[in-house]
Amino acid sequence: MKCIKCNRESLSENSNYCPYCGAAQKPVFTVTFPEKNNFSQSKCYVYDSTTNKTLRICEFKGTAVLPYIKDLSIKVSAGGYRGKPVIKTAPGKVYNLVGDYSGKLVFVEEGKENAK
Ligand SMILES: [Zn+2]
Repeated sequence: MKCIKCNRESLSENSNYCPYCGAAQKPVFTVTFPEKNNFSQSKCYVYDSTTNKTLRICEFKGTAVLPYIKDLSIKVSAGGYRGKPVIKTAPGKVYNLVGDYSGKLVFVEEGKENAK
């Protein structure tokens, strides 16, 4: 079995993480929502950005784990004036939603918080 990130062959069938690069091997895409604010709705939503179908509903500070599907883009919503950013899913990626200077939600890849 090959690592989905570095492509090295070494993984057993049940490995969750690559021993070389540490990448999560499950073909999932993870998004964590921020804390609730005054303008928030009661829940956070993840939609398929093409069909607008609701894929996940989760709590504030909660995490949505989605299967990676080729060419799937998701749209997220936490209410108020925070916008509905869209991102293309990629296997093994972990994103945190953070508020920018104006309070709008932006996707930040985990581990790259300071790489703006
Ligand atoms: Zn690897």
